[in-house]
Amino acid sequence: MLCPQCDMLVALPPLAFGTRALCPRCKTTLSTRWEEPRKQPIGYALGALFMLLLANIFPFINMRVAGFSNEIRLFQIPQVLVADDYASLATLFMVLVQLIPAFCMLAIILLCAKVRMPLVLKEWIAKMLFQFKIWCMVEIFLAGVLVSFVKLMAYGDIGIGNSFVPYCLYCLLQVRALQCIDRRWLWQDIEPAPHLDRSLKVGRTGMCQGMRSCHCCTAILPADQTHCPRCHSTGYVRRRHSLQWTLALLLTSFILYIPANMLPIMVTEALGSKINSTIMAGVILLWGEGSYPVAMVIFVASIMVPSLKMLAICWLCWDANGKGKKRADSERMHLIYDVVEFVGRWSMIDVFVIAVLSTLVRMGQLMNIYPDTGAVLFALVVILTMFAAMTFDPRLTWDCGNETIKKEPKGDGK
Ligand SMILES: [Zn+2]
Ligand SMILES: [Zn+2]
Repeated sequence: MLCPQCDMLVALPPLAFGTRALCPRCKTTLSTRWEEPRKQPIGYALGALFMLLLANIFPFINMRVAGFSNEIRLFQIPQVLVADDYASLATLFMVLVQLIPAFCMLAIILLCAKVRMPLVLKEWIAKMLFQFKIWCMVEIFLAGVLVSFVKLMAYGDIGIGNSFVPYCLYCLLQVRALQCIDRRWLWQDIEPAPHLDRSLKVGRTGMCQGMRSCHCCTAILPADQTHCPRCHSTGYVRRRHSLQWTLALLLTSFILYIPANMLPIMVTEALGSKINSTIMAGVILLWGEGSYPVAMVIFVASIMVPSLKMLAICWLCWDANGKGKKRADSERMHLIYDVVEFVGRWSMIDVFVIAVLSTLVRMGQLMNIYPDTGAVLFALVVILTMFAAMTFDPRLTWDCGNETIKKEPKGDGK
């Protein structure tokens, strides 16, 4: 198969149970063979769906301050946000924490259980499953809840409700179910890969052999064939205008990033006085109160990661544009790309913290927290940078290195 990250053609040996195949050039996991490729994901996914149901039925967390108390359930979070005219944040919560993960779990069950349905529908579900995978932010929401606990501990007693434990289990099962799904295996299971009539050389890139890999189902296709016969997605040898798109998205997110940091992300109303707090002010407040670890988490997740991520993507684009020409660079750039892809989602923590705080802290005249414009902008920044990282074609970083690889064996022969 062609490595999706560096376009190297790799011959996959038959894998033993529980082992993974790594790309020899970029060390990306190409395929994993699970012992029970059907039963395991179905079990985890069913468990996750059941836990999600439990998590929504019972009270999630509660808070008591000087006689006032407030208890919330998970589904109340969007309700309160909509009532505050922050439908955008409510939608974000519903979609990222509940709908998309639930859809993915359902998709895993349907696909692995070999439920009888039209092939077109099956292909569509599988395509959506892999596209939605990185938008499942269940574990990030959990981290957000924990951060809010620490933030609120100074003000009153926080208690966990009956659905908190099911939610944690939902989070674990969901992550595990997604982990157990192997893209190559699943597509092979839906439909065998299209037949190839030419012989290919292992250890060389797909591009120099006139081949491309389908970004969706990993099938190897001739370079001039833009339509994949298996998953019906269109693709090219390299993602078209990848750098332009990435830079455009990056620029937009950078422009939004400035007001997101200047405008208040939430308003705290305590005993009649209003305090607007920006992201930085929140960090300083936490630091001042002595909760250093949480202050660090928020600082890293909301300030360092987004700005470093923008810089990193810029650097990746600049490098892919052909200015860096060393092979060592490709490996380093690839590491940066991996980190950027993995870490980017975690910036959402702050948005979820605001969602939890503004739902939980409704104590009438005593204390109220409302979200503010900055939070919406910040969420947009995170989403845009995630898209920017997605539109970036990682194979471009390896293309510059190509010449050097071809030269190396020659050098040895002399
Ligand atoms: Zn590779
Ligand atoms: Zn395909």
